[in-house]
Amino acid sequence: MLYRPFGKTGKNISVISFGGMRFSEPKDLQKSSESLLHAHDKGINYFDTAPIYCGDRSEDIFGHALRQLPRESFYVSTKCSRPNGADLRKSLERSLQRLGVEQIDFFYIWHLMTPTDWEQRKQGGAVEAALQAKEEGLIGHLLCSSHMEGEGLAQVLDDKIFEGVLLGYNAINFPYRRAAVEQAGKQGIGVVTMNPLGGGLIPQNPERFAFLKTATANDVVSAALQFNLSHPAITTALVGFSNTQEIDQAVAAADNFVPYSEAQQQQLQDNVETAFDGLCTGCGYCLPCPVGIPIPKYLDSYNQLILTNGDQQAVRDRYRMHWNITPQQAKECIRCGGCEERCTQHLPIMQRLAELPD
Ligand code: SF4
Ligand code: SF4
Repeated sequence: MLYRPFGKTGKNISVISFGGMRFSEPKDLQKSSESLLHAHDKGINYFDTAPIYCGDRSEDIFGHALRQLPRESFYVSTKCSRPNGADLRKSLERSLQRLGVEQIDFFYIWHLMTPTDWEQRKQGGAVEAALQAKEEGLIGHLLCSSHMEGEGLAQVLDDKIFEGVLLGYNAINFPYRRAAVEQAGKQGIGVVTMNPLGGGLIPQNPERFAFLKTATANDVVSAALQFNLSHPAITTALVGFSNTQEIDQAVAAADNFVPYSEAQQQQLQDNVETAFDGLCTGCGYCLPCPVGIPIPKYLDSYNQLILTNGDQQAVRDRYRMHWNITPQQAKECIRCGGCEERCTQHLPIMQRLAELPD
């Protein structure tokens, strides 16, 4: 396993990290714990969970497994999305108790979706409560997690409160998040990437993503992980594992890791355009919209309709669960046409907004 320094924290993190949001049988504490222990055996030392994952079972599974391991052999992270300081404190204390540790190594101000969210976390006291808990030693390092577009998130990082950031970054959406990764790199803070496999879309569409493959990564999963790890600012790729085979495959990708050269990376970025023929790449050039519609989020959701051959539920899950938006705002489009003139992919944006399922 390859390890990288996590920003300026003095901690070295495995480049593949364990995400606890996809246990296949979360009610089975023993079985779920085994996959976590297997990952630890393979050299993974960063374990990420959150309240509510897997029907609110994930933290209990982590606690069951981590109690069996030497404390100095792993780092654990969890999160809180509440804006109120007292609520955050309560959630943190419950996480500590469930995980069976005296300190959360990496604690996230969770799920920042908009600049307003960020203001609310500050004004509601959540940030202050987290910093206070850090003073008390209950938190090792404070980070944030976000689905905001790159520029907005870069501004949050500019406040210089966080020692690291968790963001979605992969071969599908990297243009949308690149600014935040660059900003984190400039600040020298840790970067954890979630969804390195595009929420499953990359392994489900191997032909479309075949362009990612290299001599040392001859399957799309390995290639997608190597794509992430090739970015010098990225510390670790967080993968939500469902079984031990997935762990072994990801660990093998790290073991065989050969960074893409700059020329290869440029080539890949160019190839994304071809691979995304008819798909939104999340580049954001269609913005701004005069009525404030977050077009890339809706068009990214519409991507699911194409990639899943018409599964409307996949689209709903994407905009509700991933982006936290509803189809109502898309219906406010006044059909000015500005976004379509600017779209790098020449997509029929107005038509797609109208076709989004309720
Ligand atoms: S066409 Fe609709 S979505 Fe596009 S910029 Fe105009 S109002 Fe916004
Ligand atoms: S709709 Fe077009 S311009 Fe807007 S993010 Fe998607 S690909 Fe980019």
